[in-house]
Order: sequence, then structure tokens, then C-alpha cells
Amino acid sequence: MVIIGAGVIGCSTAYHLARMGITDVVIVEMEQVGAGTSSKSASMLSLQFCGAELVARMTRYCYDRYMQFEEELGTPIDFTPIGWLSLATEETADHLRQTAEMLQSLDIETEILTPEEIAYRYPAIRVDDLVLGTWGPGDGPLDPHMVMWGYVGRAREMGVRLRQGVRATGIRVVGGRVVGVETDAGFVATGTVVNAGGPWAIEIGRWLGLEIPIINAARSILVTGPFPDIPSDWPFVEDVTVEWYVRPEGPGLLMGMGVTPTDQLDIPFRMEVAYEMIDTAVHRVPVLEHAPFMTGWTGVRPMTLDDLPILGPVHEVEGVVLNCGWGGTGIIHAPLAGQLAAEYVAQGRTQTLDLHPFRMERFAGVNVREVADLRVHSRQAGA
Ligand SMILES: Cc1cc2nc3c(=O)[nH]c(=O)nc-3n(C[C@H](O)[C@H](O)[C@H](O)COP(=O)(O)OP(=O)(O)OC[C@H]3O[C@@H](n4cnc5c(N)ncnc54)[C@H](O)[C@@H]3O)c2cc1C
Repeated sequence: MVIIGAGVIGCSTAYHLARMGITDVVIVEMEQVGAGTSSKSASMLSLQFCGAELVARMTRYCYDRYMQFEEELGTPIDFTPIGWLSLATEETADHLRQTAEMLQSLDIETEILTPEEIAYRYPAIRVDDLVLGTWGPGDGPLDPHMVMWGYVGRAREMGVRLRQGVRATGIRVVGGRVVGVETDAGFVATGTVVNAGGPWAIEIGRWLGLEIPIINAARSILVTGPFPDIPSDWPFVEDVTVEWYVRPEGPGLLMGMGVTPTDQLDIPFRMEVAYEMIDTAVHRVPVLEHAPFMTGWTGVRPMTLDDLPILGPVHEVEGVVLNCGWGGTGIIHAPLAGQLAAEYVAQGRTQTLDLHPFRMERFAGVNVREVADLRVHSRQAGA
């Protein structure tokens, strides 16, 4: 079989397939492992960023798998539990409180904080327009490259082939069934193809006449130089209302912001974006006015209207398995993404979780592009 894309989702899928004994697998990656969205993330593993109970259960599974990653795969992932602090104004307080209560009901450690408690713990944060905050101690960054290479390295040891610098250019279908994948390095015969193309999944779907309902949205990251005014033991701090966040990164800070729908997938970092982000940052943490800008980049998050991925087969063509639309949580959810895809390919059904909430058919009849504007005004799931 062929997996198109060696981002975190394709790598996890390859490993889980091999672990289930399916090793006649080729991953085709047009650049290098992780060259797409997976290398542009904020690298957060979070139990707190779950707006719905299903997502919280998915995340719980993945968090536990990540805690065993090194033991299972022999690769360290440099996870550091710095904690996650969410901040809500009037506009977002009810949603944040309900999310915290839902997480507590699932035994996920989450504390609700008053603005005074936030100011006491983190005096640099402006709290006069806040209604509440929530705190979870278990969240933190990991190294997505170690995750990807851990998965793909182990998959290769078990027989999976990785073809970097090879672009898939088409999927050949005969009588409604996949018979192979066209690439710029020749034809690969196969009856099964996994679309793990991240933001490019839409284009791959179009080769088959499918309109995969993903909304690609740009988000930028800005990294500062050393900035001792913010202690290096700060947690990940998220201002929910404006979807801006900051966390320590080495001796400096990393910030992220942006939900701009885009058709362009390779987006250079623009200074206008940096200025907008700095204005937002300075409102919430005034001392950031003095933080020295060092570097930045822009990535594309493949979002869906309900913040759930698109995972499973399609009616139209036999042999196609979608594993895309992981939005802002693809790093977090990679263990589950690979596990479910592998179970489906190996057995035609899944045990770990029911695939129905993830099937593409749930969007039948919805013109995603028309409602996309509504989407970007609501809180997005993921970092
Ligand atoms: C700024 C930002 C911050 C984020 N922060 C977080 C976070 O903190 N935590 C989290 O969990 N998630 C986060 N995300 C989301 C996360 O990065 C994505 O959900 C995840 O990386 C998606 O992985 P993927 O494998 O589906 O896609 P990708 O990583 O994009 O992989 C797809 C691969 O397919 C390849 N490809 C495409 N077309 C072809 C073709 N025709 N032939 C061959 N290869 C092809 C591409 O080169 C690419 O490598 C963030 C995203 C952004 C942009």
C-alpha cells in the first residue's frame, strides 16, 4: 500500500500498520519527513485544549501513548510538562468554565482560577479584563521531529519503505477501485492508498473527484531572543478570546496566532503579522513590549467545521483511506490517527474508537467554503 505524506500523521500510520504486520508499505513524501505543517507547530501536547468530550477522550488516549513512546519505540520525545494556563474574558468565560468542568468529570486535572489567583501566580499578566482562567499541570511541548523519526525509523526497521523527494501526481482507478499511485519517479501498483497529505489532502482528493471538506487556515509563530523578564518556568499561556498564546522557548519565548483561510500552502512570514501579534501580546502581557523579535514562520492548519479529523474510507472509490483534517491537534492526536487507520486497513473496522464521527460523509450537502467565514470567528481546537 501507499501512504501519501510523511508528516506526523503519515509517519504514525506507517508505524501502526507495520506494528499490525502490514509492512508492504511505501510512504511517498514530496520533500522530507515533516516538511509540511508538522514542522511548523507550537509542539504542544495538551489535555486542556479539548472543547468536546470526544476530543478529550481522544487526547487522553494519545497522552498516555506519548508517555510510553520512548519505551515503545526507543526514541525520546523531550516532553516537558510546563502546564497550560487558559485566560478568558466575558466573551469566552462560559465556554472555558464548561470545558474545565467537562475535563474534571473525566478526571483530567484542571483548576479554575480567579483573576486574582492568576495575578498572584503570574504578575506579568494583565487581568483587569479577565473573568477567569483554567490551569492544567500536565501539558507541555515535545519534539515533533523525534516523534516523526521515531515512528518512521521503527516502521523502516520493520520493512516499510520511505521515498523522500518523490511527489505523488495522481491515483489510478479502474472500475471504481484503486490500482496504483502515479509519482514523478514512476508508477507504484497498490490496491490501497492513504491520503495523509495534511493541507495538500484537498488537492489529492480532487485527483479522485472528491471535494474533501477541509479549510486550510494560516497561523504564524514568532520567536523572541533571550527575554529574562518572563521567568523560564512560565507555562503555556493562552488568551482564548483572541487566540494568542505564548510559552518559553529556550532563553526566549514562542508566540502563536492566526486563523486566516488560505489557498496558498507555502506562506512566507510577514512583518504585518508580527506587528499584529505583538500588539495582542502587549495587551495581555505588557512587558512583552520589550521582547526582542528573533524569527518567525507561518504554517497551515487543515481545519474542519467540527474540529474533528476526516478519517476512514470514501464511498466513491474503493481502496482510498483518508487520514487528514487534523487541524490544530495533529501532533497531539498522531498516536490515535495511526492506530485507527491501521486498524481499519488491517481489519476493515476499528476497536479503539468508532470511526463514524470522523467519516467524510458527515459533511454531505454542506458547502464548506460558504460557511468557512463563520468558522474562523469561533474558537478553534488546537494550538
Ligand atoms: C502554527 C501552528 C501551530 C500548531 N501547533 C500545534 C500544537 O501545538 N499541537 C498540535 O497537536 N498541533 C499543532 N498544529 C497542528 C499540527 O501541526 C497539524 O495538525 C499536523 O502537523 C498535521 O500533520 P499532517 O501529517 O496531517 O500534515 P503535514 O505535516 O503537512 O504532512 C503532509 C505531508 O504530505 C506531503 N505531501 C503533500 N502532497 C504530497 C504529494 N502529492 N506527494 C508526496 N507528498 C505530499 C507534504 O510535503 C507534507 O510533508 C499547529 C499548526 C500550526 C500551523
